[in-house]
Amino acid sequence: MLSGWREATAHRPWRISAKLLIISSVVTVIGFSAICVSVMLDMRRGEEALARQTLENLATTIESDISRNIEIYDLSLKAVASSMLLPELATVSKPVRHLILFDHATTARHFGAIQVYDADGKLTIDASTLDPPAENRGDEDYFRVHRDNPGAGLFISRPMLFRGAYSIVLSRRISDTDGGFLGVVAGSIRFSYFHELFERLSLGPDDTITVLKRDRTIMMRRPFDLDVIGKNLGTQQTWKQENLKAGGSYAGQGPVDTTPRLYVRSSGDSPLFVVAGKPLSAVFDLWRKEAIRIGAVVLALIVFMLASTLVLAREIGRRAEAESKLEEMATTDALTGLKNRRKFDAVIDVEWRRAMRAKTPVALLMIDADHFKAYNDTFGHQAGDQVLVGIAICISDSVSRAGDCAARYGGEEFAVLLPNTSATDAFKVAEAIRVKVQGWSDDQTSSTVSCGIASLVPTVGMDWTVLVAAADKALYAAKAGGRNQSVVASLPKLSLVA
Ligand code: GH3
Ligand code: MG
Ligand code: MG
Repeated sequence: MLSGWREATAHRPWRISAKLLIISSVVTVIGFSAICVSVMLDMRRGEEALARQTLENLATTIESDISRNIEIYDLSLKAVASSMLLPELATVSKPVRHLILFDHATTARHFGAIQVYDADGKLTIDASTLDPPAENRGDEDYFRVHRDNPGAGLFISRPMLFRGAYSIVLSRRISDTDGGFLGVVAGSIRFSYFHELFERLSLGPDDTITVLKRDRTIMMRRPFDLDVIGKNLGTQQTWKQENLKAGGSYAGQGPVDTTPRLYVRSSGDSPLFVVAGKPLSAVFDLWRKEAIRIGAVVLALIVFMLASTLVLAREIGRRAEAESKLEEMATTDALTGLKNRRKFDAVIDVEWRRAMRAKTPVALLMIDADHFKAYNDTFGHQAGDQVLVGIAICISDSVSRAGDCAARYGGEEFAVLLPNTSATDAFKVAEAIRVKVQGWSDDQTSSTVSCGIASLVPTVGMDWTVLVAAADKALYAAKAGGRNQSVVASLPKLSLVA
């Protein structure tokens, strides 16, 4: 088995190398590509993590700015609500009452003036004027919430037009010492505050900042769009609350427009939270450029490598073909196409040793054309050659088992090696050849052959020349016996197998 393999590789060393070359190139390309893809995905994850961190910082910074302002404003509302209970308030003049109720914090640029409404919703005190106009806000959300719910605390309204400016209204209930409803104190933070806050940030053209109430009402958004402001995301079928939890992120299409973005939600616990968004195209812009650059270089390398491998493989294939042709020529007899003497000697050597190990018989036929010199003399050398070709065809037709080896032994002499064959079976093959030659030449040349047959089981130390000599001797016996016949060698001292 092993020696068979060795023989096969010895015959076609290049072909196997070409296959190995292609396989190793393909494996290298696959491995190389896998590493590149893995590195690029790692880079992409890195870019995304960096963008997520930046957006989270931005959202949290904005949220804390908003919540600090709401807190400041709320402190003023709380102060008014508690000061309204002072009995002295009714006795002092209006300017003094203003001084008691309102601090200067609420006069900051984007804060609206604080107003106090009585239990019926009537405007009673206005920080911006000593004589407030007659108006009633009893139907407004920010009034009704406090009237109907003593524990509402700080109420932040939906975005609305308040005193001529888009604002969010902050309000608190004024209760007496028994918890009875005395009215509402309200104030506002104008949208201009958010505009100014967003302008201070350096944002990309398609970056978004959305400020939402805990009930997911959009309070403010950049880019500014009045159609979006005041909408509640909870009512949107396409947008689920789980998509964006506090401190979490979401990559994809958002609830407002179709641009896919990386959205990150602030993680604070103030009444308003912030979602910062960046288009995915901007997040992965640098990465994409880098990936294309690396990808192009890698692709070029792969193409170059595969192309060189194919060229090499083709060259190796050509050489292999040329070598096998050369080998074929070196082992074949040019006239008859049978194996030549050199090949025969190599084959008999291998088979002899194999039979010695396996303790099986090896048979040899020595076949010689009868009166061939006379034929040549009569019909010419070329006609003689044609007869030799005819005999070779008769021999090949009769010898078909794998491992059998038919060779031109020299001149008009042929040898057929039949491994694992007894003398009886070898005799049958010899007769088949002899009869076939006779049948073929009957109507043409009347050529015949004589066959000497020997078969023996080789023993240790025995040389295959013994087999050749025995078959040769049998061939002489066939010639001596009148030619056109097959004779089996009888050598009683050797292990002849009959
Ligand atoms: P025998 O029956 O005893 O074998 O007689 P024979 O004439 O065949 O034997 P011999 O050995 O005396 O002659 C062999 C002849 O075979 C000599 C030569 O002319 C011829 N011969 C050898 N090689 C070739 C060859 O390649 N082509 C041709 N045409 N003839 C060859
Ligand atoms: Mg001869
Ligand atoms: Mg002869």
